Amino acid sequence: MAVFYVAILYAPTLLLRLPQSKSLNSFMIRRFICASIASVVSLTISASILPWQAVVCPLSLTSLMYAGSLVSKSLSLLSSWKEEEHDKSFCHVKNISQRFLDWVASVASNVLAWRNYVVENTINGRDLLIEVNDVAFKISKNHASDGAPEGPSIVGDLLDYLNESWTQFHATAEAKRQLLAAGFHLLKENDDWDLKPGGRYFFTRNMSSLIAFAIGEKYSVGNGFHAIAAHTDSPCLKLKPNSASSKAGYLMLNVQTYGAGLWHTWFDRDLSLAGRVIVRAADGSFLHKLVKLKKPLLRVPTLAIHLDRTVNTDGFKPNLETHLVPILSIKPEDKSVKSEEKSLPSSKAAHHPVLMQVLSDELGCGIDEIVSIELNVCDTQPSCLGGGNEEFIFSGRLDNLASSYCAIRALADSCASPEDLLNEHSIRMVALFDNEEVGSGSVQGAGAPTMFQAMKRIVHCLAHEYVGEGAYERAIRESFLVSADMAHGVHPNFMDKHEEHHRPQLQKGIVIKHNANQRYATSGVTSFLFKEIAKIHNLPTQEFVVRNDMGCGSTIGPILASGVGIRTVDCGIAQLSMHSVREICGKEDIDIAYKHFKAFYQTFSSIDRKLSVD
Ligand SMILES: [Zn+2]
Repeated sequence: MAVFYVAILYAPTLLLRLPQSKSLNSFMIRRFICASIASVVSLTISASILPWQAVVCPLSLTSLMYAGSLVSKSLSLLSSWKEEEHDKSFCHVKNISQRFLDWVASVASNVLAWRNYVVENTINGRDLLIEVNDVAFKISKNHASDGAPEGPSIVGDLLDYLNESWTQFHATAEAKRQLLAAGFHLLKENDDWDLKPGGRYFFTRNMSSLIAFAIGEKYSVGNGFHAIAAHTDSPCLKLKPNSASSKAGYLMLNVQTYGAGLWHTWFDRDLSLAGRVIVRAADGSFLHKLVKLKKPLLRVPTLAIHLDRTVNTDGFKPNLETHLVPILSIKPEDKSVKSEEKSLPSSKAAHHPVLMQVLSDELGCGIDEIVSIELNVCDTQPSCLGGGNEEFIFSGRLDNLASSYCAIRALADSCASPEDLLNEHSIRMVALFDNEEVGSGSVQGAGAPTMFQAMKRIVHCLAHEYVGEGAYERAIRESFLVSADMAHGVHPNFMDKHEEHHRPQLQKGIVIKHNANQRYATSGVTSFLFKEIAKIHNLPTQEFVVRNDMGCGSTIGPILASGVGIRTVDCGIAQLSMHSVREICGKEDIDIAYKHFKAFYQTFSSIDRKLSVD
């Protein structure tokens, strides 16, 4: 329909070009006639085939444009006639008419721009970038809020990612799904790799850690990696191998604490279970399956104030072994327990039959087919926007799925089309690790050499037979790592917990983390380079150091930096309530982090080239 409309509109202009006009005068007259005919014909034909709104709006604006063009050309014609007469007194009039002409030309071009907007929105209904007087305006159907960073927001997509990713397994599986959708090729660590410049690849390990990378078309052996690393795990409760217990007529679940959670926040929440199971298939093989029980299944109730009168003054100090045990159900009558237990194989006694029944219903398999389970206790409340202006994200697992998502999204978007890698000399990489919350010392944690093994394999694979002297070592020295983990925003009720001059705020950009004792891997050089990217792209940054009289947290940055000697900056999005079951961060910081990470991939090479440190 749009094509037909354009064809009608521009056919006369095309016809005009065929025979050469003898003079400007005759050209203008013919053009006027053609424009009139085109307007009448297109109005008539369009009115007969389109709804009236689709005809009236664009055509009214089109006729305005033609009117502007007509006035402009007529005046230019008049001006040229007068000039031919060499009438000096006409100079003044000419200046005025020239200014008028400029104004008309400007209005005509604006009308053209707005006409395009109306046509696009009426017919195509999509977002549009228009230019009026050399100023670009983004016309978005979503009407982004004032003050938000330019460009489309990824916050809605992050909320979806958080709601999918109840566990480190789901976070990795969802990242895998998104990378496949973005055209990345799935590799296996135990296969031969066949990599090519311009290619985009990834692999997962244990379905809880992931390495993704995109190779620049201009890559040559010895060039560096530009990597962003984050973690997929969050503090939570995990089911013990023998989870079934019962007390005072309740069926309870034995759990272990994982990481340094704020455990009091897990009381009185609508909890459930998610994780992975191994299922025996009919052919005798075993299947690895993820599972998420979406309905509220569990609860850790607090003790009523009447039975704990001093809790508000003396503090709530639960014993993590005896007080943090979730209730699953009311214990069935003894008779039914006996009959159920009799019918069950001995291996199922580790977990309550009611739990196994819920799991088998969810998985669509028999209880006997579930041969192993690894489940986290999860909060069922969905992630959402909050605050007076919806400026906050309320969610569990922001630490560190917010960084993980921004990194994956920035990588995928930085090489969405083949042209994006045409001039890239380096390799863009994302590394997501499990087990950061417990020190990273595991097969799927940052303590394992997963990332560096991958880098080595990539260097060797792309070098084919010939690997130059020190190719891998040169590549590492050329490389740069952004270790992204959430940061502590200043808490309005506990401001003295922050060093006076380093109080990161929500909505004020990525926080660069410094620590003289190397709890963070940032140096003066790496922070400069990372901030320079932000400066060029007009993105805010903030600085953080912990008070000297307080201990400092740490993250995967120093582990990866010291593991092989890669230049590293530790940074993160400011948040409150870190390690609570429900955390808070600023909505705009997500878009800022995404843009900062994307800019890192796109522009780091050119910035790095300008500074040499021996
Ligand atoms: Zn973290």
